Amino acid sequence: MQTEHKINLMGLSPEEIQDIVVQMDEPAFRARQICSGIYRRHALSWDHLTDLSKSLRQKLCEKYEVQYPLAHQAFQSKDGTRRYLFGLGPQEWIESVFIPEDSRDTFCISTQVGCAVGCLYCLTGKLAMRRNLAAGEIIGQVLALLKDRETPSKRLNVVIMGMGEPLFNYDNVMKAIRLMTDARAMALSPRRITLSTSGVVPGIRKLALEPVIPNLAISLNATTDKLRDQLIPINRKWKISELMEACRSFPLEKRQRITFEYVLIAGINDAPEDARRMVRLLAGLKQKVNLIPFNEDPRLPFTSPDEERVLAFQKILVDRSITASIRRARGADISAACGLLAGREIRNPSQ
Ligand code: SAH
Ligand code: SF4
Repeated sequence: MQTEHKINLMGLSPEEIQDIVVQMDEPAFRARQICSGIYRRHALSWDHLTDLSKSLRQKLCEKYEVQYPLAHQAFQSKDGTRRYLFGLGPQEWIESVFIPEDSRDTFCISTQVGCAVGCLYCLTGKLAMRRNLAAGEIIGQVLALLKDRETPSKRLNVVIMGMGEPLFNYDNVMKAIRLMTDARAMALSPRRITLSTSGVVPGIRKLALEPVIPNLAISLNATTDKLRDQLIPINRKWKISELMEACRSFPLEKRQRITFEYVLIAGINDAPEDARRMVRLLAGLKQKVNLIPFNEDPRLPFTSPDEERVLAFQKILVDRSITASIRRARGADISAACGLLAGREIRNPSQ
Protein backbone atom coordinates (compact mmCIF):
# COMPACT_ATOMS: atom_id res chain seq x y z
CA MET A 1 0.00 0.00 0.00
CA GLN A 2 2.77 2.41 0.87
CA THR A 3 5.58 3.49 -1.38
CA GLU A 4 8.96 3.20 0.23
CA HIS A 5 9.60 6.65 1.53
CA LYS A 6 6.18 8.24 1.91
CA ILE A 7 3.70 7.88 4.73
CA ASN A 8 0.17 6.96 3.70
CA LEU A 9 -2.46 9.19 5.30
CA MET A 10 -5.38 6.97 4.25
CA GLY A 11 -6.90 5.42 7.36
CA LEU A 12 -5.45 7.99 9.75
CA SER A 13 -7.88 9.64 12.13
CA PRO A 14 -8.53 13.40 12.10
CA GLU A 15 -6.50 13.60 15.33
CA GLU A 16 -3.54 11.79 13.78
CA ILE A 17 -3.69 14.04 10.74
CA GLN A 18 -3.82 17.05 13.02
CA ASP A 19 -0.64 15.90 14.80
CA ILE A 20 1.13 15.71 11.46
CA VAL A 21 -0.09 19.16 10.42
CA VAL A 22 0.96 20.70 13.73
CA GLN A 23 4.40 19.10 13.43
CA MET A 24 4.72 20.85 10.10
CA ASP A 25 4.07 24.16 11.86
CA GLU A 26 0.80 24.61 10.03
CA PRO A 27 -2.42 25.80 11.68
CA ALA A 28 -4.74 23.02 12.94
CA PHE A 29 -7.57 23.93 10.54
CA ARG A 30 -5.42 22.60 7.70
CA ALA A 31 -6.05 19.13 9.14
CA ARG A 32 -9.78 19.60 8.59
CA GLN A 33 -9.17 20.55 4.98
CA ILE A 34 -6.95 17.52 4.45
CA CYS A 35 -9.50 15.17 6.08
CA SER A 36 -12.28 16.51 3.97
CA GLY A 37 -10.11 16.23 0.85
CA ILE A 38 -9.23 12.61 1.56
CA TYR A 39 -12.47 11.23 2.94
CA ARG A 40 -15.13 13.36 1.25
CA ARG A 41 -13.68 14.53 -1.99
CA HIS A 42 -11.69 11.31 -2.47
CA ALA A 43 -8.55 13.16 -3.54
CA LEU A 44 -5.65 10.93 -4.48
CA SER A 45 -3.18 13.63 -5.29
CA TRP A 46 -2.20 16.68 -3.27
CA ASP A 47 -2.63 18.77 -6.43
CA HIS A 48 -6.37 18.23 -6.19
CA LEU A 49 -6.53 19.89 -2.78
CA THR A 50 -6.58 23.37 -4.20
CA ASP A 51 -7.85 24.87 -0.94
CA LEU A 52 -4.39 24.24 0.52
CA SER A 53 -1.57 26.64 -0.20
CA LYS A 54 0.84 25.59 -2.88
CA SER A 55 3.72 25.50 -0.43
CA LEU A 56 1.82 23.19 1.94
CA ARG A 57 0.91 20.88 -0.93
CA GLN A 58 4.57 20.78 -1.83
CA LYS A 59 5.57 19.93 1.75
CA LEU A 60 2.91 17.24 1.98
CA CYS A 61 3.99 15.75 -1.29
CA GLU A 62 7.54 15.28 -0.07
CA LYS A 63 6.63 13.05 2.84
CA TYR A 64 3.04 11.93 2.56
CA GLU A 65 0.70 10.27 0.12
CA VAL A 66 -2.90 9.07 -0.04
CA GLN A 67 -3.12 5.51 -1.25
CA TYR A 68 -6.04 3.15 -1.14
CA PRO A 69 -6.74 -0.17 -2.78
CA LEU A 70 -7.19 0.27 -6.51
CA ALA A 71 -9.40 -2.26 -8.21
CA HIS A 72 -7.41 -4.77 -10.20
CA GLN A 73 -10.54 -5.93 -12.04
CA ALA A 74 -14.28 -5.29 -11.94
CA PHE A 75 -16.98 -7.72 -13.07
CA GLN A 76 -20.38 -6.45 -14.10
CA SER A 77 -23.50 -8.57 -13.51
CA LYS A 78 -26.58 -8.29 -15.66
CA ASP A 79 -28.54 -7.26 -12.55
CA GLY A 80 -26.28 -4.22 -12.06
CA THR A 81 -24.15 -5.72 -9.28
CA ARG A 82 -20.42 -5.19 -9.65
CA ARG A 83 -17.72 -7.29 -8.02
CA TYR A 84 -14.32 -5.68 -7.53
CA LEU A 85 -11.08 -7.56 -7.10
CA PHE A 86 -8.30 -5.74 -5.27
CA GLY A 87 -4.72 -6.94 -5.15
CA LEU A 88 -3.15 -5.65 -1.93
CA GLY A 89 0.15 -7.47 -2.16
CA PRO A 90 1.60 -10.75 -3.41
CA GLN A 91 -1.12 -13.42 -2.97
CA GLU A 92 -3.29 -10.90 -1.14
CA TRP A 93 -6.61 -10.65 -2.91
CA ILE A 94 -9.81 -9.23 -1.50
CA GLU A 95 -13.17 -8.50 -3.04
CA SER A 96 -15.90 -5.91 -2.55
CA VAL A 97 -19.35 -5.83 -4.08
CA PHE A 98 -21.44 -2.90 -5.26
CA ILE A 99 -25.17 -3.70 -5.15
CA PRO A 100 -27.51 -1.09 -6.65
CA GLU A 101 -31.08 -1.16 -5.33
CA ASP A 102 -34.10 1.01 -6.04
CA SER A 103 -33.65 3.53 -3.29
CA ARG A 104 -30.06 2.99 -2.22
CA ASP A 105 -26.68 1.57 -3.14
CA THR A 106 -25.11 -1.07 -0.92
CA PHE A 107 -21.36 -1.61 -0.66
CA CYS A 108 -20.24 -4.95 0.74
CA ILE A 109 -16.66 -4.74 1.99
CA SER A 110 -14.00 -7.14 3.29
CA THR A 111 -12.02 -6.99 6.51
CA GLN A 112 -9.43 -9.76 6.18
CA VAL A 113 -7.47 -11.54 3.47
CA GLY A 114 -9.01 -14.99 3.95
CA CYS A 115 -10.80 -16.03 7.13
CA ALA A 116 -9.78 -18.16 10.09
CA VAL A 117 -13.32 -19.20 11.04
CA GLY A 118 -13.69 -21.74 8.26
CA CYS A 119 -17.48 -22.07 8.04
CA LEU A 120 -18.32 -25.14 5.98
CA TYR A 121 -20.73 -23.29 3.68
CA CYS A 122 -18.43 -20.40 2.73
CA LEU A 123 -15.75 -20.21 0.04
CA THR A 124 -13.81 -17.51 1.90
CA GLY A 125 -13.57 -20.00 4.77
CA LYS A 126 -11.62 -22.34 2.51
CA LEU A 127 -8.82 -19.82 2.12
CA ALA A 128 -5.95 -19.58 4.53
CA MET A 129 -6.21 -16.57 6.77
CA ARG A 130 -3.41 -14.34 5.51
CA ARG A 131 -3.77 -11.07 7.36
CA ASN A 132 -6.01 -8.41 8.79
CA LEU A 133 -6.76 -5.41 6.61
CA ALA A 134 -5.57 -2.03 7.87
CA ALA A 135 -8.20 0.63 8.60
CA GLY A 136 -7.18 2.47 5.43
CA GLU A 137 -7.70 -0.67 3.34
CA ILE A 138 -11.17 -1.13 4.82
CA ILE A 139 -12.45 2.43 4.36
CA GLY A 140 -10.42 2.56 1.12
CA GLN A 141 -12.75 -0.03 -0.43
CA VAL A 142 -15.69 2.29 0.24
CA LEU A 143 -13.81 5.20 -1.35
CA ALA A 144 -12.77 3.11 -4.35
CA LEU A 145 -16.37 2.03 -4.97
CA LEU A 146 -17.67 5.56 -4.43
CA LYS A 147 -15.27 6.85 -7.05
CA ASP A 148 -16.62 4.34 -9.56
CA ARG A 149 -20.31 4.84 -8.82
CA GLU A 150 -22.47 6.51 -11.40
CA THR A 151 -25.33 7.33 -9.02
CA PRO A 152 -23.79 9.71 -6.50
CA SER A 153 -27.10 11.00 -5.22
CA LYS A 154 -28.39 7.65 -3.99
CA ARG A 155 -28.23 6.83 -0.32
CA LEU A 156 -25.30 4.68 0.63
CA ASN A 157 -25.31 1.59 2.83
CA VAL A 158 -22.13 -0.15 3.91
CA VAL A 159 -22.32 -3.80 4.89
CA ILE A 160 -19.28 -5.35 6.48
CA MET A 161 -20.13 -8.76 5.10
CA GLY A 162 -17.39 -9.47 2.61
CA MET A 163 -14.35 -11.63 3.21
CA GLY A 164 -13.23 -12.15 6.80
CA GLU A 165 -14.59 -12.09 10.32
CA PRO A 166 -14.73 -8.39 11.25
CA LEU A 167 -14.65 -8.97 15.00
CA PHE A 168 -11.35 -10.85 14.65
CA ASN A 169 -9.91 -7.61 13.24
CA TYR A 170 -11.60 -5.50 15.86
CA ASP A 171 -9.36 -2.45 16.19
CA ASN A 172 -8.90 -1.78 12.48
CA VAL A 173 -12.58 -2.37 11.71
CA MET A 174 -13.61 0.01 14.49
CA LYS A 175 -11.15 2.63 13.32
CA ALA A 176 -12.60 2.37 9.80
CA ILE A 177 -16.16 2.62 11.16
CA ARG A 178 -15.23 5.70 13.20
CA LEU A 179 -13.79 7.30 10.06
CA MET A 180 -16.90 6.43 8.06
CA THR A 181 -19.10 8.08 10.68
CA ASP A 182 -16.90 10.98 11.83
CA ALA A 183 -18.39 14.33 10.82
CA ARG A 184 -14.86 15.49 9.90
CA ALA A 185 -14.33 12.46 7.65
CA MET A 186 -17.06 10.60 5.72
CA ALA A 187 -20.00 11.61 7.95
CA LEU A 188 -22.09 8.50 7.26
CA SER A 189 -24.76 7.68 9.81
CA PRO A 190 -23.87 4.58 11.90
CA ARG A 191 -27.35 3.34 11.04
CA ARG A 192 -26.22 3.01 7.44
CA ILE A 193 -23.46 0.59 8.40
CA THR A 194 -24.04 -3.08 9.26
CA LEU A 195 -21.43 -5.40 10.70
CA SER A 196 -22.02 -9.12 10.30
CA THR A 197 -20.34 -11.62 12.62
CA SER A 198 -20.24 -15.38 12.79
CA GLY A 199 -20.65 -15.03 16.56
CA VAL A 200 -17.49 -13.73 18.22
CA VAL A 201 -19.09 -13.13 21.61
CA PRO A 202 -16.29 -11.09 23.28
CA GLY A 203 -16.24 -8.84 20.19
CA ILE A 204 -20.01 -8.30 20.38
CA ARG A 205 -19.70 -7.40 24.06
CA LYS A 206 -16.88 -4.96 23.33
CA LEU A 207 -18.80 -3.42 20.42
CA ALA A 208 -21.74 -2.82 22.77
CA LEU A 209 -19.58 -0.38 24.75
CA GLU A 210 -18.37 1.71 21.79
CA PRO A 211 -19.45 5.34 21.38
CA VAL A 212 -20.25 4.64 17.72
CA ILE A 213 -22.12 1.39 17.09
CA PRO A 214 -23.12 0.07 13.67
CA ASN A 215 -26.11 -2.19 13.09
CA LEU A 216 -25.35 -5.72 14.15
CA ALA A 217 -26.05 -8.83 12.07
CA ILE A 218 -25.48 -12.33 13.39
CA SER A 219 -24.92 -15.31 11.09
CA LEU A 220 -26.96 -17.77 13.12
CA ASN A 221 -27.35 -20.54 10.52
CA ALA A 222 -28.16 -23.29 13.02
CA THR A 223 -30.44 -23.60 16.04
CA THR A 224 -28.67 -26.39 17.92
CA ASP A 225 -25.09 -26.34 19.18
CA LYS A 226 -24.58 -29.79 17.69
CA LEU A 227 -25.11 -28.49 14.16
CA ARG A 228 -23.63 -25.03 14.71
CA ASP A 229 -20.44 -26.59 16.13
CA GLN A 230 -20.03 -28.33 12.78
CA LEU A 231 -21.00 -25.50 10.45
CA ILE A 232 -19.24 -22.67 12.30
CA PRO A 233 -16.27 -24.03 14.23
CA ILE A 234 -16.06 -21.04 16.64
CA ASN A 235 -19.41 -22.14 18.07
CA ARG A 236 -17.44 -24.75 20.01
CA LYS A 237 -15.99 -21.84 21.95
CA TRP A 238 -19.00 -19.52 22.12
CA LYS A 239 -22.25 -21.49 22.30
CA ILE A 240 -25.63 -20.35 21.01
CA SER A 241 -26.86 -19.51 24.54
CA GLU A 242 -23.87 -17.23 25.14
CA LEU A 243 -24.32 -15.63 21.73
CA MET A 244 -28.01 -14.94 22.39
CA GLU A 245 -27.14 -13.53 25.81
CA ALA A 246 -24.66 -11.08 24.22
CA CYS A 247 -27.41 -10.09 21.75
CA ARG A 248 -29.90 -9.53 24.54
CA SER A 249 -27.61 -7.06 26.25
CA PHE A 250 -26.61 -5.28 23.04
CA PRO A 251 -27.78 -1.63 23.10
CA LEU A 252 -30.35 -0.76 20.47
CA GLU A 253 -31.91 2.55 19.64
CA LYS A 254 -35.60 3.04 19.12
CA ARG A 255 -36.80 0.94 16.20
CA GLN A 256 -33.35 -0.57 15.76
CA ARG A 257 -33.11 -4.35 15.60
CA ILE A 258 -30.46 -7.04 15.37
CA THR A 259 -30.53 -8.91 12.06
CA PHE A 260 -30.24 -12.67 12.25
CA GLU A 261 -28.93 -14.09 9.01
CA TYR A 262 -29.82 -17.70 8.32
CA VAL A 263 -28.35 -19.50 5.34
CA LEU A 264 -30.86 -22.18 4.35
CA ILE A 265 -29.07 -25.38 3.36
CA ALA A 266 -31.06 -28.29 1.93
CA GLY A 267 -31.50 -31.16 4.35
CA ILE A 268 -29.19 -29.59 6.94
CA ASN A 269 -30.98 -26.70 8.67
CA ASP A 270 -34.16 -26.07 6.64
CA ALA A 271 -36.73 -28.25 8.43
CA PRO A 272 -39.89 -26.83 10.04
CA GLU A 273 -38.43 -27.91 13.40
CA ASP A 274 -35.42 -25.65 12.77
CA ALA A 275 -37.75 -22.73 12.11
CA ARG A 276 -39.68 -23.44 15.31
CA ARG A 277 -36.46 -23.62 17.34
CA MET A 278 -35.43 -20.31 15.79
CA VAL A 279 -38.70 -18.74 16.94
CA ARG A 280 -37.94 -19.87 20.48
CA LEU A 281 -34.35 -18.59 20.37
CA LEU A 282 -35.43 -15.16 19.17
CA ALA A 283 -38.24 -14.69 21.68
CA GLY A 284 -38.07 -11.36 23.46
CA LEU A 285 -35.33 -9.94 21.24
CA LYS A 286 -35.66 -6.88 19.03
CA GLN A 287 -34.77 -8.64 15.82
CA LYS A 288 -35.47 -9.35 12.19
CA VAL A 289 -34.50 -12.34 10.13
CA ASN A 290 -32.78 -12.51 6.78
CA LEU A 291 -33.12 -15.90 5.15
CA ILE A 292 -30.37 -16.57 2.60
CA PRO A 293 -30.92 -19.58 0.34
CA PHE A 294 -27.51 -21.26 0.16
CA ASN A 295 -25.48 -20.10 -2.83
CA GLU A 296 -24.12 -23.20 -4.47
CA ASP A 297 -20.60 -23.73 -5.71
CA PRO A 298 -18.95 -26.95 -6.89
CA ARG A 299 -16.31 -26.52 -4.18
CA LEU A 300 -18.90 -26.44 -1.39
CA PRO A 301 -20.55 -29.61 -0.07
CA PHE A 302 -24.16 -28.39 0.13
CA THR A 303 -27.18 -27.58 -2.02
CA SER A 304 -29.89 -24.99 -1.81
CA PRO A 305 -33.44 -25.93 -0.75
CA ASP A 306 -36.18 -25.57 -3.32
CA GLU A 307 -38.40 -22.49 -3.30
CA GLU A 308 -41.28 -24.27 -1.58
CA ARG A 309 -39.11 -25.23 1.38
CA VAL A 310 -37.71 -21.70 1.70
CA LEU A 311 -41.22 -20.23 1.71
CA ALA A 312 -42.44 -22.82 4.25
CA PHE A 313 -39.55 -21.90 6.56
CA GLN A 314 -40.32 -18.21 6.18
CA LYS A 315 -44.02 -18.78 6.88
CA ILE A 316 -43.34 -20.41 10.25
CA LEU A 317 -41.42 -17.30 11.32
CA VAL A 318 -43.89 -14.83 9.86
CA ASP A 319 -46.81 -16.63 11.51
CA ARG A 320 -45.09 -15.98 14.85
CA SER A 321 -44.83 -12.27 13.98
CA ILE A 322 -41.16 -12.34 13.08
CA THR A 323 -40.14 -10.14 10.16
CA ALA A 324 -38.34 -12.55 7.87
CA SER A 325 -37.17 -11.50 4.43
CA ILE A 326 -35.53 -13.69 1.83
CA ARG A 327 -32.23 -12.39 0.51
CA ARG A 328 -32.14 -13.13 -3.17
CA ALA A 329 -28.70 -13.68 -4.62
CA ARG A 330 -27.36 -10.63 -6.39
CA GLY A 331 -24.63 -10.88 -8.94
CA ALA A 332 -24.95 -14.66 -9.14
CA ASP A 333 -23.61 -14.65 -12.70
CA ILE A 334 -20.34 -13.04 -11.58
CA SER A 335 -19.80 -15.04 -8.35
CA ALA A 336 -20.58 -12.01 -6.22
CA ALA A 337 -23.24 -13.66 -4.05
CA CYS A 338 -22.88 -14.17 -0.28
CA GLY A 339 -20.27 -16.71 0.63
CA LEU A 340 -18.69 -16.86 -2.82
CA LEU A 341 -16.02 -14.20 -2.40
CA ALA A 342 -12.67 -15.84 -2.60
CA GLY A 343 -10.22 -13.40 -4.07
CA ARG A 344 -8.24 -14.89 -6.88
CA GLU A 345 -6.69 -17.84 -5.23
CA ILE A 346 -9.28 -20.46 -6.00
CA ARG A 347 -10.82 -18.93 -9.07
CA ASN A 348 -9.88 -19.47 -12.66
CA PRO A 349 -7.36 -16.80 -13.62
CA SER A 350 -9.92 -15.40 -16.08
CA GLN A 351 -12.58 -14.82 -13.42
N1 SAH B 1 -17.73 -13.27 8.40
C1 SAH B 1 -18.96 -12.61 8.62
C2 SAH B 1 -19.37 -11.74 7.47
C3 SAH B 1 -19.16 -12.27 6.08
S1 SAH B 1 -20.16 -13.61 5.52
C4 SAH B 1 -20.06 -13.61 8.92
O1 SAH B 1 -19.85 -14.80 8.77
O2 SAH B 1 -21.11 -13.16 9.35
C5 SAH B 1 -21.69 -12.81 5.08
C6 SAH B 1 -22.90 -13.71 5.10
O3 SAH B 1 -22.86 -14.68 4.03
C7 SAH B 1 -23.03 -14.52 6.40
O4 SAH B 1 -24.31 -14.38 6.95
C8 SAH B 1 -22.83 -15.95 5.93
O5 SAH B 1 -23.56 -16.84 6.74
C9 SAH B 1 -23.35 -15.90 4.50
N2 SAH B 1 -22.85 -16.97 3.65
C10 SAH B 1 -21.64 -17.55 3.68
N3 SAH B 1 -21.56 -18.51 2.72
C11 SAH B 1 -22.75 -18.54 2.07
C12 SAH B 1 -23.28 -19.28 0.97
N4 SAH B 1 -22.55 -20.20 0.33
N5 SAH B 1 -24.55 -19.01 0.58
C13 SAH B 1 -25.27 -18.06 1.18
N6 SAH B 1 -24.81 -17.32 2.20
C14 SAH B 1 -23.57 -17.55 2.66
FE1 SF4 C 1 -15.46 -16.32 7.58
FE2 SF4 C 1 -17.96 -15.33 7.49
FE3 SF4 C 1 -17.10 -17.03 5.60
FE4 SF4 C 1 -17.55 -17.90 8.08
S1 SF4 C 1 -19.08 -17.06 6.65
S2 SF4 C 1 -15.76 -18.41 6.82
S3 SF4 C 1 -16.89 -16.15 9.29
S4 SF4 C 1 -16.31 -14.99 5.99
